[in-house]
Amino acid sequence: ESKRAGSHGWRAYDASMTDRRNRDALLAAELEHACASGELSVLYQPIVDLTTGDAVAVETLLRWHSPALGAVPPTEFIPVAERSGAIHEIGRWILGQACRQVRRWADASGGQIVYVTVNVSPRQLEDPTFIDDVMAIVEGSGLPPDKLVLEITETAIVDQRTAIPVLTTLRKRGVRIAIDDFGTGYSALHYLTRLPVDVLKIDRTFVGQLNGTRQGAAVTEAIIRLGQILGLTIVAEGIETSAQATELQALGCALGQGYLFSRPADAADLDAMITSAPRRESPARA
Ligand code: C2E
Ligand code: MG
Ligand code: MG
Ligand code: MG
Repeated sequence: ESKRAGSHGWRAYDASMTDRRNRDALLAAELEHACASGELSVLYQPIVDLTTGDAVAVETLLRWHSPALGAVPPTEFIPVAERSGAIHEIGRWILGQACRQVRRWADASGGQIVYVTVNVSPRQLEDPTFIDDVMAIVEGSGLPPDKLVLEITETAIVDQRTAIPVLTTLRKRGVRIAIDDFGTGYSALHYLTRLPVDVLKIDRTFVGQLNGTRQGAAVTEAIIRLGQILGLTIVAEGIETSAQATELQALGCALGQGYLFSRPADAADLDAMITSAPRRESPARA
């Protein structure tokens, strides 16, 4: 495309690169004080039992409203925070928020505890104090460590030399591990059996392909079978229609999340749904 556009195309490309760099620099500068200034907030999305519709867990999702830039989506600012190093402080902050909120839900429902998932970026795993920080935050919140699930993408686990030992140690201390967006990264398939994981999350692209045909269900079904063989908990992401939920159940998937059940929402908006549901066990240990 740039070849055909000639020098004009190159100029346009260059301008957009400069815009991107300026925007990233601005985001990085604003992010530096975002945490301390109270500009970050947390939403929770229920993970439900597909049979009953009851919430068994929540995924924690970060939001940033910058006074200067407005609402910035996590897909835009997380990569910037990873490069600037702000991800470490932000990561500790959201983990504390999540653990304390789930502890409050447990108290409000007479001790029944939903488990909570928190997304973790590969940069956080490189921090030499990460394991101690996580354990201190969990223990400080009073949440049993096995009610915390850390979500890591497949690519991050494969790429990071330190990822496997860090996750193995956390798992020994009781924390559980999920592979997020499973099937979309570099394939971790050849050593999945040796990874320290408890949960596989089927990426929403595969859920979106479900259309009642064997072809449409191929990847989802393969992931579910793989999970069953390895004794892992399977969670389907991005369920938007009841047809998808029904098909997932027929394929043997017990848990899912998506707009069909609830959009990510404020803790207060989820109080009734979370504290009234009968609880199930935390994800099975492989
Ligand atoms: P993710 O961890 O895979 O989170 C799921 C994303 O799918 C969320 O987007 C959620 O709002 C969205 N989603 C949920 N149900 C549906 C559905 O039915 N349909 C569609 N189309 N989307 C649905 P969100 O909140 O914009 O987050 C995007 C990504 O940003 C996350 O993907 C995660 O990788 C990252 N992220 C979010 N919060 C954090 C965080 O606290 N720390 C880190 N490191 N990354 C985070
Ligand atoms: Mg996630
Ligand atoms: Mg995901
Ligand atoms: Mg993702």
